[in-house]
Amino acid sequence: MSLTATLKSEKFLLATRQLLIDNQWVSPASGKTFEVLNPASEEVVAKVSQAGAEDVDLAVQAARRAFADGSDWRCMSASDRGKLMWKLADLIEQNLEEFAELESLDNGKPISVARVADVPLAVDLFRYMAGWATKIEGNTIPISVPGAEYFSYTLREPVGVVAQIIPWNFPLLMAAWKLGPALATGCTVILKPAEQTPLSALRLGELILEAGFPKGVVNILTGFGETGAALAAHSDVDKVAFTGSTEVGRLIVKAAGESNLKKVTLELGGKSPNIVFADADLKAAAAGAANAIFFNHGQCCCAGSRLYIHKSVFDQVLEGVVERAGRIRMGPGLDPKTQMGPLVSREQLDRVCGFLDSGKSEGARAAAGGARHGDKGYFVQPTVLVDTKPTMKVIQEEIFGPVVAAMPFDDPEDIARVANDHVYGLAAAVWTRDVSKAHKMARALRAGNVWVNCYNIFDAALPFGGYKQSGWGREMGHQALELYTETKAVTLQL
Ligand code: ADP
Repeated sequence: MSLTATLKSEKFLLATRQLLIDNQWVSPASGKTFEVLNPASEEVVAKVSQAGAEDVDLAVQAARRAFADGSDWRCMSASDRGKLMWKLADLIEQNLEEFAELESLDNGKPISVARVADVPLAVDLFRYMAGWATKIEGNTIPISVPGAEYFSYTLREPVGVVAQIIPWNFPLLMAAWKLGPALATGCTVILKPAEQTPLSALRLGELILEAGFPKGVVNILTGFGETGAALAAHSDVDKVAFTGSTEVGRLIVKAAGESNLKKVTLELGGKSPNIVFADADLKAAAAGAANAIFFNHGQCCCAGSRLYIHKSVFDQVLEGVVERAGRIRMGPGLDPKTQMGPLVSREQLDRVCGFLDSGKSEGARAAAGGARHGDKGYFVQPTVLVDTKPTMKVIQEEIFGPVVAAMPFDDPEDIARVANDHVYGLAAAVWTRDVSKAHKMARALRAGNVWVNCYNIFDAALPFGGYKQSGWGREMGHQALELYTETKAVTLQL
């Protein structure tokens, strides 16, 4: 633990972290804990509690009490709810450096990135959603039923007790994306962070208490897949919101269907196409293509992992991406000079290296990278594959690592079809100077987010989510709020 001696989060890391249930930090019924590793050094940085089915029950009961008619939360005005959320945003901002450290230690990402991306985006999300608390409105609806006069209107009511299961790639930001709309609409929550990265959510729990949220509004359970499975199957949970693998997404849908048919929203995998036309600003396109795949070490569900480059400019753009891949400084996330840290876990290291092996064995060639970096920590070289075929595993499946396949294309009229020929539809990008082509492509691409001459642009006001097998529903923007409310139509005979 010597590494942590000079850290702002030192005190937080030294104590075994407990579960947050009903505004109390408590040990799990089983007494079980698990270790959290720093992926750069493979050293243990903290110990956290492992929630089991009994703890899930207690947390759901606490969230249900907090949601009951007459509870402090239900009686709170929308304006006060918004103020609490704004206060939480302020507290996160005041502790920005500690959050950046925790994200870097836990996930491996460069602290320099966490400082300017993960933490400020989380702060902004809470502020954006705080503003919505007072703007959840229904409508008045003229109806045409003969024989009498009626007055009809809709109410937008919170869905209720919500389980939120999040992944490890942006631990704090994913917690914010989930909590923001739930709290703005007046739901109560059981949040389950990923087992690989539970620390920032637990620190957030401390700030939720400090901000003054009523008892049971936010409960935080750390644990493995079985904790998430118990939440998804719980018959007193009204909705489950999940971000993670498509495989687990299917299990969640099944668990919801076999229990109480709770509402489900999903943000799942991607294999996003990034298309460079011959008329693009090729320097910007090469830089953008590198950012599209190497940001967060490719551990983004919207990573631009299928790079289609018009054949007339293929060599030039490829060279730009390869050159950038070779220049990326790898190292521990806490080193301020680091541009790319390790992958999150040994499991991910093995998985990504497995894809590299499979690509090579099927005939692909690495124009940059192509292997593990070093032998300590879970580092993988930024990799650019060429000579791939559409049927290869590296094209068909999401790798979730710093690995892009660059492919030449011939026919600009056909490239949208090629790009859409995949089970996923999360994001896509187009690089061109032709405005008409840009808009036509934006319409033709079957993806929830399309970027033109840019990539990885996120904002709390912009909805994010997937077509096809990339998910159900949207996060952020006002679209997210709709998925946390029920609409009630009320009709009075006058
Ligand atoms: P990854 O494969 O990238 O680790 P997962 O989809 O396995 O992503 O995990 C995302 C989140 O889902 C984590 O919080 C994890 O603990 C949780 N999880 C894993 N398995 C299940 C399951 N069967 N039911 C509910 N949640 C699960």
